[in-house]
Amino acid sequence: MRADLSSAAGRTTADHDRGARLLRGVLAGVASGEEPLTHVTELPERLAAVVEWPDWTPEPVRAAFAARGVRLPWSHQVEAAEHAHAGRSTVIATGTASGKSLAYQLPVLSALTADPRATALYLSPTKALGADQLRALRDLDLPDLRPAAYDGDTPLAERDWVRAHSRWVFTNPDMLHRGVLPAHDRWSMFFRRLRYVVVDECHSYRGVFGSHVALLLRRLRRVCRRYGSDPVFVLASATVSDPAGSATRLSGVDCAAVDEDGSPRGARTVALWEPPLLDDVTGDNGAPVRRSAGAESARVLADLVVGGARTLAFTRSRVGAELTSLGAKRILAEVDADLPNRIAAYRAGYLPEERRELEAALGDGRLLGVASTNALELGVDIAGLDAVIVAGYPGTLASFWQQAGRAGRAGDGSLVVFIARDDPLDTYLVHHPAAILDKPVESTVTDPGNPYVLAPQLVCAAAELPLTPDCLPDFGGDAARAVLDDLVAEGSLRKRPGGWYWTQRDRPHGAVDIRGSGGEQIALVETDSGRMLGTVNQGNACSTVHPGAVYLHQGSSYVVDDLDLDAGLAMVHAETPDWTTSPREEVDISILETESRTVHPALGGGAVEVCLGKVAVTSQVVAYLRKLPTGQVLDQVPLDLPEHTLHTRAVWYTITEDLLTGQGLDRANLKRSRIPGALHAAEHAAIGLLPLFATCDRWDIGGVSTAVHPETTHPTVFVHDGHPGGAGFADRGHTALTAWLTATRKAIAACECPEGCPSCVQSPKCGNGNDPLDKQGAIAVLTTVLNTLRR
Ligand SMILES: [Zn+2]
Ligand SMILES: [Zn+2]
Repeated sequence: MRADLSSAAGRTTADHDRGARLLRGVLAGVASGEEPLTHVTELPERLAAVVEWPDWTPEPVRAAFAARGVRLPWSHQVEAAEHAHAGRSTVIATGTASGKSLAYQLPVLSALTADPRATALYLSPTKALGADQLRALRDLDLPDLRPAAYDGDTPLAERDWVRAHSRWVFTNPDMLHRGVLPAHDRWSMFFRRLRYVVVDECHSYRGVFGSHVALLLRRLRRVCRRYGSDPVFVLASATVSDPAGSATRLSGVDCAAVDEDGSPRGARTVALWEPPLLDDVTGDNGAPVRRSAGAESARVLADLVVGGARTLAFTRSRVGAELTSLGAKRILAEVDADLPNRIAAYRAGYLPEERRELEAALGDGRLLGVASTNALELGVDIAGLDAVIVAGYPGTLASFWQQAGRAGRAGDGSLVVFIARDDPLDTYLVHHPAAILDKPVESTVTDPGNPYVLAPQLVCAAAELPLTPDCLPDFGGDAARAVLDDLVAEGSLRKRPGGWYWTQRDRPHGAVDIRGSGGEQIALVETDSGRMLGTVNQGNACSTVHPGAVYLHQGSSYVVDDLDLDAGLAMVHAETPDWTTSPREEVDISILETESRTVHPALGGGAVEVCLGKVAVTSQVVAYLRKLPTGQVLDQVPLDLPEHTLHTRAVWYTITEDLLTGQGLDRANLKRSRIPGALHAAEHAAIGLLPLFATCDRWDIGGVSTAVHPETTHPTVFVHDGHPGGAGFADRGHTALTAWLTATRKAIAACECPEGCPSCVQSPKCGNGNDPLDKQGAIAVLTTVLNTLRR
């Protein structure tokens, strides 16, 4: 149970102004001439809405919760539990520390208590979260449940026992996919009696992984039907917009939504913060560079710790967490020799005991500051802190509020500081507070119809139980039938009068990676020791692990000796050279199918055209640059690597050239020579801002811009999904095009740099070395496009 640490109270006086006071303390430490604060707001306190237990709650269940300190439930917990108890699948979408666990435990435990044979299944995206939830359940100490984990860590000897005896099995999608469903006959008793399926943190199932999980849940329901059960789904989510729609899409069953949060929360002060530009460092093409979000958060963390505030700082990477913790320790050592010991870094991969110890130390104030990767976002029992620092936008508003939600205890004020990284999305957010503070949290993007996901999932489904025509509506109907025809044609499945069959001896599940992009992986191997360090996607290999590339892996630096694409190997050695490398890439995009096309005529002739469809992106890494940290380029090294083609989905717009070069209303008045740089800059910034409208990362998408595209015959900007078959991001961009390009234009215009920098139009993944880029030209292009779209 993710209880609020402070609910144990012991405090008598409320301190509503604490957040504002902490912020004043931090600002007092800012050097004169710097004005990092772009916005401050106060989020009011919310009072608890407490209700009675439902009258169907068995006495032992009520007593077990009471023994854990829960005398009465909150309104949203009971609302969700009532839906589930009545047999309606439901999603509960409320904030961090709002007791979502109790909301699903109450109906499930009531059912398992009332019927001594009933069973339940719990799924979490990470093993750590599952372990936490299992521990919380065991702490309730109810008899005859025999709750147990069944995941990759469960010893083989224990697995038989779990299948035969456990009534509440805790697992994850990976194990359900590889271990449980393929062997469903060994679980027949469990499935026959299955009453509930709990899907925790369901908002984390997005993109390609989300599409896989959506189809996996359909496979699960099909297997349940085979054994005569029809379990109720209870999903728990961070606050997202349209939770019912997202949950229904993910689970395949209609879900009722509960999103009225009845848990109490203290007032919070939220500060938006932009690190200042540095005087002595420049980036690509002499662009100004900001102090890093990591260095800035180290200073803010140190100031808060000096003020006695228990603070959690979230960073985007493991290296960032280490640097933030080290930086804060260094600053604190000058204040008091004891203070550095009260700061720690946290990353994924800690043992459960280590996490327990860290939670306890932060809870009782032995530790005052922890810098963490997003690993702590899920499944950690920390809430009610005095302050939270979010260093770099975590990718979604849902994650942002999940992290911010670690601050604030009932009655007391707390502080949340969002520190912008040097990129266009973060810049936009600190200059447009409404986009982060007043905007409904995004809905989750999943596309169960992606043929690149559907094909392997249908193969797995057929291997579990032959697919019959009446299964198809659940898997997308006609789209599934088309994919099945292809699978039969290529010999993967066999069509017989009864349906589609898997006739090979070995099961297909092992070859289907539900977290990957579906493509093959390249293994990173240390040349001397033969040790395997990890894997990279085949699709990215040429740009990330080409010969000579400096590659950061889990915070350590390696240089690539050789890349063998046929063998799937990249040989590397540990080395930390003075330079970094960036690939130079030639990219072509061709349109395979235009699914949607809208022409917007402009005043006085010319037009803007907006399209959505299927494309083939062909890229070839032709060289790489070696660069010093100052931005100085040492040299360019040619490479001889093959082309790579990605079939995916894209949104694109074209502008007739007269709109770009012409003068007058809605015309951009650009010289022809400026068009390539203007389009390129508009493309970069648009990629940076898309995560605000589609729950993706900028690394999940790519773009191509060209002054004349051979197929459209006009100046064109493409933004495409980075995964084979797409993951729904381009589609989302197409739906939100006007809002997206408006935000893109504002982000560029808000940046104070003269000619373009990483905060606006430069991209860390540009294959052209951020050249040419025309910042003012991009504003002119976007203004013209938007004016025409709005006509
Ligand atoms: Zn800029
Ligand atoms: Zn570029």
